Amino acid sequence: MSNTPIREPNLFDRARAHIPGGVNSPVRAFNGVGGDPVFFTRAEGACLYDTDGRSYIDYVGSWGPMIAGHAHPHVVAAVQHAAAQGLSFGAPCPAEVTMAERLCQLVPAMDMVRMVNSGTEATMSAIRLARAATGRDAIIKFEGCYHGHADSFLVKAGSGALTLGVPNSPGVPGPLADLTLTLPFNDLAAVADCLEAHGTKVAAIIVEPVAGNMNCIPPVEGYLEGLRSLCDTHGCLLIFDEVMTGFRVALGGAQGLYGITPDLSTFGKVIGGGMPVGAFGGKREYMEQIAPSGPVYQAGTLSGNPVAMAAGLANLDLITAEGFYEHLEESTRTLVEGIAREANRHGVPFRTTQVGAMFGLFFTDAGRVINFEQSGACDIEAFRRFFHLMLDRGVYLAPSAYEAGFVSSAHTEEHLEATITAAGESFRELSR
Ligand code: PLP
Repeated sequence: MSNTPIREPNLFDRARAHIPGGVNSPVRAFNGVGGDPVFFTRAEGACLYDTDGRSYIDYVGSWGPMIAGHAHPHVVAAVQHAAAQGLSFGAPCPAEVTMAERLCQLVPAMDMVRMVNSGTEATMSAIRLARAATGRDAIIKFEGCYHGHADSFLVKAGSGALTLGVPNSPGVPGPLADLTLTLPFNDLAAVADCLEAHGTKVAAIIVEPVAGNMNCIPPVEGYLEGLRSLCDTHGCLLIFDEVMTGFRVALGGAQGLYGITPDLSTFGKVIGGGMPVGAFGGKREYMEQIAPSGPVYQAGTLSGNPVAMAAGLANLDLITAEGFYEHLEESTRTLVEGIAREANRHGVPFRTTQVGAMFGLFFTDAGRVINFEQSGACDIEAFRRFFHLMLDRGVYLAPSAYEAGFVSSAHTEEHLEATITAAGESFRELSR
């Protein structure tokens, strides 16, 4: 099966002339794998179609939202219907009330929720609320976890284990970066030590409960429970960033799957069905501090707009259908086991991870990969080659070794089998 893309020659040049790097979000630029990005004009079900009409089995799913497949007729019809009634009112609408009710019903730890327009807005607002609620300024986050591009998150660890953070992007003020402490993921002792030293200053710990921005790395046994108890001991809030894991690893998100109750949670992706949507929510005592019921300011011109809510609600209809997650998890298992089998057959050192419909592919002969450092120690060059070999065979993986993969309910057995066959051919080439 050869699917070598012939791309419209000038499109990326045209893009680069007027868009920084030719893309509206960096990872799309293929810097992580080399080469030029593919431009798509259409998506349907499990597939993307490029400007030359070539099809690709898609495991990016717009980075998570397309859990029911692309252009699902139920979601498209809901959007069309809502759009015909008006694109945005800038005033309350019934759909946002229904959305809040449904989210609070599906996520038991959430008494109240505020809709926003992206995951970044959600996490940024959640830490503002945590800072206000605790009267403390510092936050703890983990190396390799991504929480969007707000200033407080674009921070890396200082040189010593317990030193303050330093900006990892120009433009992030040093004094703000000082307030973000970055620790290794899956290392409870590091959190305990940090809280021992700085506990009275820490407003919140924010974590991706299953890390999906350093490949896909599940929490080690007891890690999330340990974070919960350390937060209780030190009086800081636990924020689960479920922008990726929410309604992806299970209907109740990672918090439902692992049985942990965070104080605040953030969501995005699936709850927007492909429209720009995010949300943050949690316990009533905290959420009532948000304006206008409380003093913590947070707002949005397009937040909760009727078209985005219609898309999100239609997506929620689909994922709450009986057996939806069982089927999705089974498809994902078939995929990762099949790919791992092919790697093994061709003698390529390789590991996979899977939580629900989220998966990771690691080119390594090491044992378990549990943090960012170990993820970075995998054979990134082998991934790059594998990515292009798969792309040539019509399989679109995330263009970076540091991203998780996503399966949708539109991926049929035929799609999965074709992907496993393509992986076998790609591993064979890699092993030559
Ligand atoms: N949090 C997590 C866990 C994410 O994966 C992302 C984006 O991928 C974000 C936050 C930021 O979301 P957005 O890109 O919608 O701003």
